[in-house]
Amino acid sequence: MNEQSQPPILPWDAHNQKLVSNVHPADWKNPTPAKRYNLVVIGGGTAGLVSAIGAAGLGAKVALIEKHLLGGDCLNVGCVPSKAIIRAARAAAAVREAAGFGVNVPAGVTVDFAKAMERMRRLRADISPHDSAKRFTEQGVDVFLGDGTFTGSDSVEVSGQTLRFSKAVIATGARAAAPPIPGLKDVPYLTNETLFSLTELPRRLGIIGAGPIGCEMAQAFARLGSEVFLIEATHGILPREDLDAAEIVKAAMASDGVKLLCCGKDLKLSKDPSGVRMQVESHGKGYDQVVDQLLVAVGRAPNVERLGLETVGVEFDKKGVKVNDRLQTTNSRIYACGDICSPYQFTHAADFMARIVIQNALFMGRAKVSSLIIPWATYTSPEIAHVGLYEKEAQEKGIAVDTFTQELSKVDRAILDGETDGFVRIHVRKGTDEIVGATVVAAHAGDMICELTLAMKGKLGLKTIGGSIHPYPTQTEAIRKTADIYSRTRLTPFVKKVMGKWLAWTR
Ligand SMILES: Cc1cc2nc3c(=O)[nH]c(=O)nc-3n(C[C@H](O)[C@H](O)[C@H](O)COP(=O)(O)OP(=O)(O)OC[C@H]3O[C@@H](n4cnc5c(N)ncnc54)[C@H](O)[C@@H]3O)c2cc1C
Repeated sequence: MNEQSQPPILPWDAHNQKLVSNVHPADWKNPTPAKRYNLVVIGGGTAGLVSAIGAAGLGAKVALIEKHLLGGDCLNVGCVPSKAIIRAARAAAAVREAAGFGVNVPAGVTVDFAKAMERMRRLRADISPHDSAKRFTEQGVDVFLGDGTFTGSDSVEVSGQTLRFSKAVIATGARAAAPPIPGLKDVPYLTNETLFSLTELPRRLGIIGAGPIGCEMAQAFARLGSEVFLIEATHGILPREDLDAAEIVKAAMASDGVKLLCCGKDLKLSKDPSGVRMQVESHGKGYDQVVDQLLVAVGRAPNVERLGLETVGVEFDKKGVKVNDRLQTTNSRIYACGDICSPYQFTHAADFMARIVIQNALFMGRAKVSSLIIPWATYTSPEIAHVGLYEKEAQEKGIAVDTFTQELSKVDRAILDGETDGFVRIHVRKGTDEIVGATVVAAHAGDMICELTLAMKGKLGLKTIGGSIHPYPTQTEAIRKTADIYSRTRLTPFVKKVMGKWLAWTR
């Protein structure tokens, strides 16, 4: 998808009509602008919505401008639809694995992909009132639908109207990047903006990019019945993650039938009568594969075009708008938050950056983005979640760490649930119990990482985790057990000797 065009939300059924009636009502009339706004927000995704509603809630006069769909990527073409599809895929996998639990499912069970997608559209529409133009208006925000462009030092134009501001926020997000792959321009392909409009399961699906989006969708579509070919330029999957963790997910994806062509070289794409032909070399072997649909999931490009950034002296590059630690752009009256300016492209990061912007832009706050502790999760089965530093990062920063790992195969709940592939790994500053980073690979890693994030935020060490009771049997016991491993290392030979003597004496 190029920088200009907005793909329609398809199919045009009752669910999508409901969605659009909330997030871009056809009969919407932009309000008459106030004389001057405390805050004008450009972009109505998570970052913009949170900035706008938070500021209005504190009494500021706020205008919010959205050119396409309120809710941005997360609601419309990101987190929400992807997680709904993943849930359907998990149901399909559970049926396939049912016999192992003694549940005999009759042969011939099929997946109704169209129905799974309809469920996704229904749930997305059900969630959409939360991000609706109506709700934001009721909360005191002036909602303008149209393209926002800076026209002067304190003015933004939208649909022929001029909005004057004291402070402004750029929250225009990012879109799927089109990598320079030979032939890509000549073949039809999907991105996250069009994937969720499918109503028919692709028999063969090619995916380029084994990052979080590529991996989540590869496993989900394989579980729903597609033959999936996942092409990745580097070795393995999820290159940013702990290698051992990524290996576990890689094996799980392989057992779901995903064919990974990693260390992919010389990828060429061309048209084929039945879809797209992909030629690639992986680990020294040539592959020539036709797929019915191709999903491109490599990298994100910031939405910086036609914002008039040059007019107001806001610097940007191919990574996005440049901001300082207080999320101020190179124009001190203009701030930015969310995917447009952050390497942490997550909804929860956009949310917390927006909170920083409200404090700093409106109340002379000094909040810093570097003080945020941002966890993240990839929703494969098992999930991978991470917070803080990886071991390699700690080494690069010269921080010596002790690392403790608890395998899930020794955690009762994981054994009982048949979810033993995974581990909890915690890095502490060497010789202390201060947590500097952690990775969890588990069925519910995204939930489990919260305990470790809280511990880091509250400066609670591993000792405190080890001393807090976790209900038995839960997967989170794996975190407490990791703390127990740490505690055992504190039992020095001297302490052990003294204790031994005491026990012998009191026998
Ligand atoms: C497939 C997929 C799955 C994801 N899953 C997760 C997940 O599970 N968890 C998670 O935390 N994150 C996930 N993300 C990432 C998450 O969606 C983003 O981090 C989040 O949406 C960023 O919010 P944002 O407000 O910065 O940008 P966006 O959501 O992109 O919103 C920006 C808005 O600005 C509007 N805009 C752009 N230019 C203008 C203009 N000139 N005038 C007016 N409006 C403009 C756009 O139309 C858009 O609505 C996923 C992303 C994708 C693609």
